[in-house]
Amino acid sequence: MSDCLFCKIVAGEIPCTKVKEDDDYLAFRDISPQAPTHVLAIPKQHVPSLNEADDDAMLGGLVLFARDVAVEEGLAEDGYRVVLNTMAGAGQTVFHIHAHVLGGRAMGWPPG
Ligand code: AMP
Ligand code: ZN
Repeated sequence: MSDCLFCKIVAGEIPCTKVKEDDDYLAFRDISPQAPTHVLAIPKQHVPSLNEADDDAMLGGLVLFARDVAVEEGLAEDGYRVVLNTMAGAGQTVFHIHAHVLGGRAMGWPPG
């Protein structure tokens, strides 16, 4: 989608600090990290949010890709959180589905 920030990152039109990439997914460091490790994992395909997602393979692949990022970032043993903020009331500001991978500090519950 031409007007989408994360599609522009996928296209290389906006720079990112890339962490991991394959044919279908990209992971890069969040520009405003909320934890010592804060990576965004996205599908290259534009889907606005979890509300519109209907592709089991894409969603399952996104979660496993996020897991692989966490493992490669050394978070698997101590723990990490994978978050999909969905719509403005939950804090979604970029409407291209993305999984936050957060770790490197203790996480509170419930989330704010
Ligand atoms: P959300 O608020 O769940 O939609 O998450 C969007 C995330 O994108 C926020 O955590 C932002 O800090 C992050 N973000 C916005 N612009 C960029 C960018 N150019 N590069 C990396 N992360 C970004
Ligand atoms: Zn997009």
